[in-house]
Amino acid sequence: MTVETKGKELNQYVQDSRKSFEQHLKELVDIPTVSADPAHRQDMDKCAARAAELLKSFGASAEVIQTKGNPVVVGEFHRSKDVPTVMIYNHIDVQPADASEWKSPPFDMKVDGDKYLGRGSTDDKGPALTVLYGAKYAFDNGVPINIKFCWELEEEIGSPNFEQFLKDNKEKLHTDYIAVSDTVWISRDRPAIGYGLRGLLGVIVKLKTGTKDVHSGLVGGLARNPIGELAKLISRCYDATTGEVKIPGFYDDVNAVSENEGKDFLASGFTVDAFKKAHELIKLRTEDNLEGATRIWAKPTFEVHGITGGYSGPGVKTIVPFQAEAKLSMRLVPSQDPEKVFKLFEDFVKKELPEAEIIREGALFPYMGERTGPEAEAAVKAMKEAFGKEPAFVREGGSIGAILSMQKVLGKSSLFLGLSLPEHGYHAINENYDWQQASGGMKMFVSYFKALSELKR
Ligand SMILES: [Zn+2]
Repeated sequence: MTVETKGKELNQYVQDSRKSFEQHLKELVDIPTVSADPAHRQDMDKCAARAAELLKSFGASAEVIQTKGNPVVVGEFHRSKDVPTVMIYNHIDVQPADASEWKSPPFDMKVDGDKYLGRGSTDDKGPALTVLYGAKYAFDNGVPINIKFCWELEEEIGSPNFEQFLKDNKEKLHTDYIAVSDTVWISRDRPAIGYGLRGLLGVIVKLKTGTKDVHSGLVGGLARNPIGELAKLISRCYDATTGEVKIPGFYDDVNAVSENEGKDFLASGFTVDAFKKAHELIKLRTEDNLEGATRIWAKPTFEVHGITGGYSGPGVKTIVPFQAEAKLSMRLVPSQDPEKVFKLFEDFVKKELPEAEIIREGALFPYMGERTGPEAEAAVKAMKEAFGKEPAFVREGGSIGAILSMQKVLGKSSLFLGLSLPEHGYHAINENYDWQQASGGMKMFVSYFKALSELKR
């Protein structure tokens, strides 16, 4: 199916593109690119090849670049070396999907009115395709900018080979601006532009006090209890009621949230009530909307993911366990450094429970882009033109390794021009995308490319 831009007003082009957009999206969604499952390795190659073909059929150059893991698809609408370049990052791998839980098969995309149902429709194949449609219109209509595409196939497993890929292809990926279209608005009524991420530090703490479980009637009172001691350690690390971390120095490098940021957090449409419903949580640590938004986007956390050891079968078995393990993590915010925080944690544990073994798991730096300045203004203008509403600047509570790698290797920060909505079911069953976001997104990217091309460099 060919996509024609010639002599068309933008609105006409978008309207005329609907059928082909739906067909192209189905082609991508129907390939089960589940990166977490090695059995889908061939689907990765298949989807990469299909995506490259698609880019070419739109008139862009495209190639599939191999890595030690899954390939990356790169493409470009090249105008000239005398104009600025923007790169848009998307990913076309997806989360696993258990078909038995879905209304319709996850890898056989269904069009239901305005809705597109299928795994990867909103995360992130739909937005990737939306960018491509917008880019084609901008390019065919002479917007003086080079538009690069970077479509990863390992995002859902933490981008293990992406940084090396960037290093190996640094010249090819050279760009003036980067936008990432892989994030979720807070509400359909208000476009959201993301500019910050939390970092992450995972740790496991183990304690061994013997070599086998023993009878509490026999040893209880004299024998130590490793589960209890780990629980005590955790309660020394943080106040589980308020969430406040008590490790000395933990908050030293935390940047305060400015008044303007706070205003924007609220303007995004975030409410504690809607959040509670969306995540099916019963009671939260605060009912205050601003504090709530700040807690998930701009405050660090200490979290207990699991404690193992002892007996967990039916009823009570009166043993004293001989070992226990706590799986912990800390979400970090600008300007906390995972190295430094790990050291603080390690020193604290060594003092509180010297016999504990500390195992360091993965770490990611927090990220902070620009929410002001010409690039951000271009994004605001584009969102406003396309969706009729001033966007709100928000942060993300999670961590996206690819964004950190792009900043490190390509030297450019990213803005998150996502198109997904909370009701699209990111990572959930019955994932969907919709024509309203796709059509608005196409227009938004056309405006964005125009606005960027007009910036003074
Ligand atoms: Zn995604």
